[in-house]
Amino acid sequence: MKVLVEKAVWPWKLTCRKCESVLEAEKTDVEYAWFGASYGGDRREKEYYVTCPVCETDNFVPKDLLTQSVKDAAKAYQQPT
Ligand SMILES: [Zn+2]
Repeated sequence: MKVLVEKAVWPWKLTCRKCESVLEAEKTDVEYAWFGASYGGDRREKEYYVTCPVCETDNFVPKDLLTQSVKDAAKAYQQPT
Protein backbone atom coordinates (compact mmCIF):
# COMPACT_ATOMS: atom_id res chain seq x y z
CA MET A 1 0.00 0.00 0.00
CA LYS A 2 1.27 3.45 -0.91
CA VAL A 3 0.29 6.44 1.14
CA LEU A 4 -0.36 9.27 -1.29
CA VAL A 5 -1.74 11.83 1.10
CA GLU A 6 -1.39 11.46 4.80
CA LYS A 7 -4.19 12.98 6.82
CA ALA A 8 -2.12 14.49 9.59
CA VAL A 9 0.07 17.47 8.91
CA TRP A 10 3.69 17.03 9.88
CA PRO A 11 5.88 18.67 10.92
CA TRP A 12 3.45 19.60 13.66
CA LYS A 13 3.44 23.23 14.73
CA LEU A 14 2.54 23.68 18.35
CA THR A 15 2.76 26.16 21.15
CA CYS A 16 4.30 24.84 24.34
CA ARG A 17 1.63 24.68 27.01
CA LYS A 18 4.03 25.94 29.66
CA CYS A 19 6.48 28.49 28.22
CA GLU A 20 4.42 29.29 25.08
CA SER A 21 7.37 28.84 22.77
CA VAL A 22 6.23 28.15 19.22
CA LEU A 23 7.67 24.83 18.13
CA GLU A 24 7.76 22.58 15.12
CA ALA A 25 7.88 18.88 15.91
CA GLU A 26 9.01 16.18 13.52
CA LYS A 27 7.70 12.65 13.72
CA THR A 28 11.08 11.60 15.04
CA ASP A 29 10.65 13.95 18.00
CA VAL A 30 7.65 12.00 19.23
CA GLU A 31 8.12 9.81 22.25
CA TYR A 32 5.76 7.34 23.84
CA ALA A 33 5.56 6.66 27.53
CA TRP A 34 3.34 6.18 30.52
CA PHE A 35 1.85 9.18 32.24
CA GLY A 36 0.19 9.05 35.59
CA ALA A 37 -2.19 11.12 37.61
CA SER A 38 0.54 13.66 38.34
CA TYR A 39 0.14 14.85 34.76
CA GLY A 40 -3.49 15.77 35.29
CA GLY A 41 -5.14 12.51 34.28
CA ASP A 42 -7.31 10.26 36.38
CA ARG A 43 -5.51 7.10 35.43
CA ARG A 44 -2.26 5.94 33.95
CA GLU A 45 -2.21 6.08 30.20
CA LYS A 46 0.38 5.67 27.52
CA GLU A 47 0.70 8.93 25.65
CA TYR A 48 2.50 10.24 22.61
CA TYR A 49 4.29 13.48 23.33
CA VAL A 50 7.10 15.81 22.38
CA THR A 51 9.37 17.53 24.84
CA CYS A 52 9.79 21.30 24.62
CA PRO A 53 13.50 22.06 24.10
CA VAL A 54 13.14 25.35 25.97
CA CYS A 55 11.50 24.32 29.23
CA GLU A 56 11.45 20.50 28.93
CA THR A 57 7.69 20.32 29.39
CA ASP A 58 5.94 17.40 27.71
CA ASN A 59 3.29 18.39 25.18
CA PHE A 60 0.87 15.63 24.17
CA VAL A 61 0.29 14.98 20.49
CA PRO A 62 -3.39 15.44 19.57
CA LYS A 63 -5.12 12.15 18.76
CA ASP A 64 -5.98 13.26 15.22
CA LEU A 65 -2.29 13.72 14.42
CA LEU A 66 -1.39 10.20 15.48
CA THR A 67 -1.10 8.34 12.23
CA GLN A 68 0.46 4.92 12.06
CA SER A 69 3.71 6.36 10.75
CA VAL A 70 3.94 8.66 13.74
CA LYS A 71 3.37 5.75 16.08
CA ASP A 72 6.02 3.75 14.25
CA ALA A 73 8.49 6.61 14.53
CA ALA A 74 7.86 7.23 18.20
CA LYS A 75 10.58 6.18 20.55
CA ALA A 76 9.12 3.88 23.16
CA TYR A 77 10.58 4.48 26.56
CA GLN A 78 10.28 1.75 29.09
CA GLN A 79 9.62 3.38 32.41
CA PRO A 80 9.14 1.61 35.70
CA THR A 81 5.48 1.10 36.44
ZN1 LIG B 1 8.24 25.07 26.79
